[in-house]
Amino acid sequence: MFEGLSERLGSVFDRLKKRGALSESDVSTAMREVRVALLEADVALPVVKSFIDRVRERAIGQEVIKSVTPGQMVVKIVHDELVATLGSDSQAVNLNAVAPVPILMVGLQGGGKTTTTAKLAKRLTERDRKKVLMASLDVTRPAAREQLRTLGEQVGVDTLPIVQGETALTIAKRAMTAGRLQGYDVVMLDTAGRTSIDEGLMAEARAVRDAVNPHEVLLVADALTGQDAVTTATNFDERVGITGIILTRVDGDSRGGAALSMRGVTGKPIKALGVGEKVGDLEDFHPERIAGRILG
Ligand code: GDP
Repeated sequence: MFEGLSERLGSVFDRLKKRGALSESDVSTAMREVRVALLEADVALPVVKSFIDRVRERAIGQEVIKSVTPGQMVVKIVHDELVATLGSDSQAVNLNAVAPVPILMVGLQGGGKTTTTAKLAKRLTERDRKKVLMASLDVTRPAAREQLRTLGEQVGVDTLPIVQGETALTIAKRAMTAGRLQGYDVVMLDTAGRTSIDEGLMAEARAVRDAVNPHEVLLVADALTGQDAVTTATNFDERVGITGIILTRVDGDSRGGAALSMRGVTGKPIKALGVGEKVGDLEDFHPERIAGRILG
């Protein structure tokens, strides 16, 4: 991720670092170039604007221009502001509640929701030593429920037995009851996805939310769709309310615009990154590490 941006910023900063002293106009020229690089990486315009304003304000400060290595100081400021843009207070998935902790997974069809549910369940089981139960609420697509069951077997996580003819709401309630009676720590509910924002789907997700009171509502969105992923997050947040985002297909995303825009546009933290098709391909989201990757 971020190959293009990293290359562009690298050449801007190499030039800046070669200069002994920096004038205000050197900083302004560099900021114009950084702005173009961010826009080319498909970062949302308001996020770019606020980023550039913050960097410029700090970079034309006297201590930078008068310092012995002004170029280095500008890079440091850009690094800090990238971390702030990504969400310096980003946390992991929060399980701090009475068991069984309900986690609702939402998103558009094809975004990687079911795969991510299994990836996260595997991680909670193996790393956090939690007993996890997964349930698919997709009553319209039998294949989706079957997919979750197969993934569950693959990662060694239980899935709620499938009963024909139930509604999403009934399945959710049955999952919570099973979670309580059978001593599960976490119940993950994989909601149905549609190919576009669909009010019926949203109403169903809201009904499930109201019935189980999820501790986390995680939106799974495809990083490759760039700003569409950000719009999807905003839509789900307005209609269902989300507590965090998991970006998928980050392995194929060379631009990184969705990752850099999410926090600024939605106000919600990215909690993990999907970095491949395999069930182990889930990474924690570390803004510091990502800023480091961007700046090379
Ligand atoms: P859903 O319809 O949202 O539940 O999507 P699925 O979980 O079925 O995923 C759709 C496709 O995306 C599958 O082929 C997954 O293997 C693939 N996929 C999911 N997450 C990732 C990821 O992080 N990287 C890559 N490369 N593929 C992914």
